[in-house]
Amino acid sequence: MDAMPANAEGDAAAVADEDGFMPQADVVAEPLTDPFAAYNPAAGSSLREHMRQWASAGIPKSVGGSLLEFEHRARTDGSIQYARWRVRCKNPRHRNCGKSRTIGSTTTFGVAEIAGYLHAWLLAGNEPPYLDDGFLHRLAVVTSEDVQNSLTELGLR
Ligand SMILES: [Zn+2]
Repeated sequence: MDAMPANAEGDAAAVADEDGFMPQADVVAEPLTDPFAAYNPAAGSSLREHMRQWASAGIPKSVGGSLLEFEHRARTDGSIQYARWRVRCKNPRHRNCGKSRTIGSTTTFGVAEIAGYLHAWLLAGNEPPYLDDGFLHRLAVVTSEDVQNSLTELGLR
């Protein structure tokens, strides 16, 4: 199967710390009641459409034991700097380990693909060669097959 990009975060890299993991200042556990207020109408409508699709896709609040956290930030002109879902790795041997996917990472399976990708990535962290190496885990390649298996396990396809 084709490999999917290990990092599809776009602008996110600019605000990532040296581990590639994101600062936690604006992290919320669930979608905000109105996460669109900070955005101009065009940006806000794409975010609103994403949230509508997410809500109707039956995606659980957590995957692989980790909460699906939504985080976003607007530029001063109201455009989206980033809007993404992320999980924190629960492997106690990995320090500050996590992964995020932007809301645009929906090429094949719709918005559920984001949950499937993050679930598959979390599972990989509990197996060799990533089990004892958080740095390697953050670079782990998730294949399309991995995503499909996770979507099946999560009942999303
Ligand atoms: Zn990890």
